[in-house]
Amino acid sequence: MSTSYDVINPATEEIVKNVPHLDLEATDLVIVKAAKAFETWRHIAPGERARLLRSFSQVVTDHREELAQIEITNSGHTRGNALWEADNVANTLMYYAASPERLFGRQIPVPGGIDVTFKEPLGVVGIIVPWNFPMPIAGWGFAPALAAGNTVVLKPAEYTPLSAIRLGELALIAGIPEGVFNVLPGKGSVVGNRFVTHPLVRKVVFTGSTTVGKQIMVGCAEQVKRVTLELGGKSSNIIFADADIEKAAAGAPGAVFDNAGQDCCSRSRILVQKSAFDNFMEHFEVAVKKFRVEDPNLSTAEMGPLISKKQFDVVESFLDEPIAFKGNAPTSPGYWMAPTVLLPKNTQARSWREEIFGPVVSVMVFEDEAEAIAMANDSEYGLSGSIWTRDIGRALRVSRGIETGALSVNSNSSVRFWTPFGGFKQSGLGRELGPDALDSFTEVKNVFISND
Ligand code: NAP
Ligand code: MG
Repeated sequence: MSTSYDVINPATEEIVKNVPHLDLEATDLVIVKAAKAFETWRHIAPGERARLLRSFSQVVTDHREELAQIEITNSGHTRGNALWEADNVANTLMYYAASPERLFGRQIPVPGGIDVTFKEPLGVVGIIVPWNFPMPIAGWGFAPALAAGNTVVLKPAEYTPLSAIRLGELALIAGIPEGVFNVLPGKGSVVGNRFVTHPLVRKVVFTGSTTVGKQIMVGCAEQVKRVTLELGGKSSNIIFADADIEKAAAGAPGAVFDNAGQDCCSRSRILVQKSAFDNFMEHFEVAVKKFRVEDPNLSTAEMGPLISKKQFDVVESFLDEPIAFKGNAPTSPGYWMAPTVLLPKNTQARSWREEIFGPVVSVMVFEDEAEAIAMANDSEYGLSGSIWTRDIGRALRVSRGIETGALSVNSNSSVRFWTPFGGFKQSGLGRELGPDALDSFTEVKNVFISND
């Protein structure tokens, strides 16, 4: 039985479009089609596969305004973010377009002959995407997967399927053959789960909640299916007294409230060295109060609405702790919430421990380096984080001490398509992006050729 879903604009609560959902039977047909396409795609000459990926990148660039507008309307992303996100897809495609011609194996010295390794594609790769960054997270999966010679089935989140559907059309316009890159709107429990259970899907790339990620890992164990997981985070923004406090405070709202805090890398814990607390909070309050939460179509918007009423209710449930101060938000229809700064009583407070995924940040003080590291590591998560200090030795010691996958020093940016991204502990398994991502979309084959 087929169903469908009314996509809602979270900034207005208006219905944007009705999107039909694939049922199990339709999902299986696309998986089989992707498996057939794999037989030709894997054998396309490396230079030609590279050319097709460059073409896909160019077509995405040609449609960046359209893609950004889709994301503003479907996801409530600010115009600035949505343009960056469309460009990120194009950039990631262009970056991995260089790899089909550089997918080197090795020649290893052995007695009696020669030994070479090949990096073979896996087959059909299933990518399950959440609603918080529909375009970039899709691209981080499909660009390296396609470059390595795999075909792709991609399931967008129910809330946010529109940009992925358009990317599927753009791939065909760019000349990517039918069946190579397939977008399957549908439910996680139907389409997503079928990626886990269908034997022709050889790898699952999942980004989303830790709860569902664990279920996917369990499901993949049945077929020893390859799996990459990008899950939650509870990352720290650590500000030492010797830092440029004004700069750290000016950057702190963006580090947590960007995308309305619906970001696995969001620095939702701020740790300030005790002697700098008053100074930091004074500047931070000014920055939070002028953080622009407004119609995401405006180029001045720094934050839009939350994705859904459901997410709004979840986030609101965290607001029962002492509030230091709040920013502003529209009162018109839409899932708007003002950025909020909490002062939790201790490290057991819910806001300090759980991923909130909304525009809410908790601030606590620490005495010294050792305590800052211990507080940051006191979490089941370990995804990103920031360290603000002018002392290089301290920056190094703290960077090495924190159990997290993507750190930045005197900066809050941790995502670049050139560098590896992923989590320690329950934030995930495996790494995306950077020069090594191809390894997780290939199997190493070793071949010995005798001298005889
Ligand atoms: P979610 O349930 O983990 O959804 C992520 C993706 O997985 C969606 O495409 C979803 O499809 C799909 N899915 C759901 N159940 C599945 C299953 N049994 N098998 C296969 N795929 C399945 O996340 P959510 O419910 O949207 O968000 C809940 C919380 O997760 C958030 O509040 C946040 O804390 C966290 N989260 C983290 C990230 C991140 O980047 N790490 C992203 C999103 C959410 P449907 O759209 O059909 O549900
Ligand atoms: Mg869910």
